[in-house]
Amino acid sequence: MTCDGAMTDPKGDRSLPPHQQHDPDLYLRVVEERSDGIVVRGAKAHQTGAVNSHEIIIMPTISMRREDMDYAVSFALPADTDGITYIMGRQSCDTRKLEGKTYDIGNVLYGGHEALVVFDDVFVPWERVFMFKEYDFSGQLVEQFASYHRQSYACKVGVGDVLIGAAQTIAEFNGASKASHIKDKIIEMNQLNETLFCGCIACAAEGHQEPSGTYYVNTLLANVHKQNITRFPYEIARLAQDIAGGLMVTLPSEKDLLSSEVGKWVRKYYQTQKNVPLESRLRILRLIENLTLGTAAVGYLTESMHGAGSPQAQRIMISRQVNMDAKKKLAQKLCGITEGD
Ligand SMILES: Cc1cc2nc3c(=O)[nH]c(=O)nc-3n(C[C@H](O)[C@H](O)[C@H](O)COP(=O)(O)OP(=O)(O)OC[C@H]3O[C@@H](n4cnc5c(N)ncnc54)[C@H](O)[C@@H]3O)c2cc1C
Repeated sequence: MTCDGAMTDPKGDRSLPPHQQHDPDLYLRVVEERSDGIVVRGAKAHQTGAVNSHEIIIMPTISMRREDMDYAVSFALPADTDGITYIMGRQSCDTRKLEGKTYDIGNVLYGGHEALVVFDDVFVPWERVFMFKEYDFSGQLVEQFASYHRQSYACKVGVGDVLIGAAQTIAEFNGASKASHIKDKIIEMNQLNETLFCGCIACAAEGHQEPSGTYYVNTLLANVHKQNITRFPYEIARLAQDIAGGLMVTLPSEKDLLSSEVGKWVRKYYQTQKNVPLESRLRILRLIENLTLGTAAVGYLTESMHGAGSPQAQRIMISRQVNMDAKKKLAQKLCGITEGD
């Protein structure tokens, strides 16, 4: 089963809590309570993979107070339940997919999507409701879900592997791979990517078993890991663009390559080493474009920034979770400050 973890509400005016929004539906809420279930109204934004999910699991997006009680709701529904509408998000360069299976797509095998998911008075039977107006638990639910999700950003390490492989390939195709600064940039990309790998392994390995038997990640390390995710992929992408050269954004289309009129010029002027097929060079450039500027940059870059919470959300968690008293004691003991001082 594939599930969409649906936490993010549209949120309207960010300075106001749910019950003070000028439109009460800007956070998903309970609008009716029946003997057999509840009726909900609202939306969840940016939902990754929603259209290819079997189930959609709704959770509140922020901690709430008594006045927001109607918004403290969590439930799961089959994704094709009556009253749910999916409005697909656009992605940079998305219409290239409509041009046929050309190398201009960049990634010829896979893609992803996000959607605005609208709940227009949708009925949820009681057996599928996990939280009903228990507002005092919404903050805990958000923190725990976010921590698991922040650990799951191992996925960006996999994308990083692909981008590093693409950068090395284009450097070889271009005849630049032996230059010392190129080698050093590839090392830097690997060091950043493996640091991310360390983070996701660490917060899982340092987790603990809960009384229920499930395992919970180390929340401090999960937040540190996600904070690194908001930064390192951008640096890895910058280095990949440096190594790729400008052609990744000025390259003519596959149609031009195949054109009887100008194809010969594209072939002549974009060749590099004799043994490198031009088509291979153009394909790898398109992949780097796809990962750093195109449809896949949605997941590799902007989702790294905002997914599972924007950077500030992790900083708040880090400041709450570090044991500052213990750190101060260590420092003060070493320099001879005693408790009475
Ligand atoms: C590609 C992608 C995929 C995603 N997939 C999913 C998904 O599958 N499921 C899901 O539930 N969510 C998903 N998200 C949503 C993600 O969790 C949110 O983008 C994130 O929580 C930030 O919310 P926002 O986009 O509304 O930005 P905002 O909340 O508007 O944040 C923008 C900036 O304003 C700041 N800000 C906002 N409110 C305040 C405030 N009150 N006080 C101080 N500063 C504030 C933030 O810190 C940030 O710097 C996805 C996002 C992206 C980009």
